[in-house]
Amino acid sequence: MQPASILQADSAADRPTFSVVIPIWNEAAVIPELYRRVQEVMAEAGGSWELICVNDGSEDNSLQLLLELRAADPRVRIIDFSRNFGHQVAITAGTDFAEGDAVIIMDADLQDPPETILRMIERWREGYEVVYAVRVSREGETWFKLWTANLFYRLLQSIADINIPLDAGDFRLMDRRVVLAMRRLREKHRFMRGLSSWVGFKQIGVEYERAERYAGETKYPLRKMLRLAMVAITSFSYLPLQLATYFGFAFAILSLVGIIVTVILRLSGNLFFLGQATTLVSVLFLGGVQLIFLGILGGYLGRIYDEVKGRPLYLISRAYGFVSDERPQ
Ligand code: UDP
Ligand code: MG
Repeated sequence: MQPASILQADSAADRPTFSVVIPIWNEAAVIPELYRRVQEVMAEAGGSWELICVNDGSEDNSLQLLLELRAADPRVRIIDFSRNFGHQVAITAGTDFAEGDAVIIMDADLQDPPETILRMIERWREGYEVVYAVRVSREGETWFKLWTANLFYRLLQSIADINIPLDAGDFRLMDRRVVLAMRRLREKHRFMRGLSSWVGFKQIGVEYERAERYAGETKYPLRKMLRLAMVAITSFSYLPLQLATYFGFAFAILSLVGIIVTVILRLSGNLFFLGQATTLVSVLFLGGVQLIFLGILGGYLGRIYDEVKGRPLYLISRAYGFVSDERPQ
């Protein structure tokens, strides 16, 4: 894929200072308020701005509302996907098209308070190139989500090959240099906050209180959360694969001890370990362990297969407000 910046050969002077990228999937209930809050905050940011909304195959009238916003304010730009490609891919498309010197990624549901953007911009002006928002508290989430999220971030921190900040979501500001680097990462199974750590650059966190969803339902049920967690782990760690080796060694040593003990017992005339139960239990147990590791191998293999297929990350039905409204991806 061609990074959008190559196709859009505007001079630096035409580019806005800030791009706000927002993925939208069935968010009709929040769009008017979202625009009002973003525009209020960006008016104070001290620079020109664009708002890039990526419509991720919404089935409600989100696109209609976005088009109405765009009719009134041409700083609103819209990328309309051909179907739902998922949150992480929607963010990717937004950053592919963003032209700002700093690009801010936030959710549509106002759980990421737009006012935090001003503090991010302050840090950016001090010279930081990635300013990620760290949740110090979360409102309106179930204890289950809080607990699992907490556990997940700590697990990932301990097994990942890179340092991914704790309790930081996708809400962040990235300097254009970071965005250009991110555009070169085209992996299919994407964990954007991990990738934005992987690229390096000067990073810092700002704390914020995660608000309640303004309206509507979460778009991340448990199933999708687990899938994202698996993407995160497999993208940044080989530990699940290596576990098979550790288990293998442990069982090999155990069976060696078992052999020696059995031989000694038999020679001394003790008739232990008779009957089928011991054999059956150990065969079943090891069979189970082997299947688990086959599954883990399968997980990595499937990801390799998706990469090899080389399909584009997303397809755009139409883009509104860019140099060419039907740009190739
Ligand atoms: N989203 C998306 N595509 C999806 C799922 C979610 O574009 O397939 C968007 C959604 O509209 C929202 C953001 O991703 O702007 C985060 O979703 P949500 O707030 O429901 O997640 P949560 O905050 O509950 O984890
Ligand atoms: Mg949310």
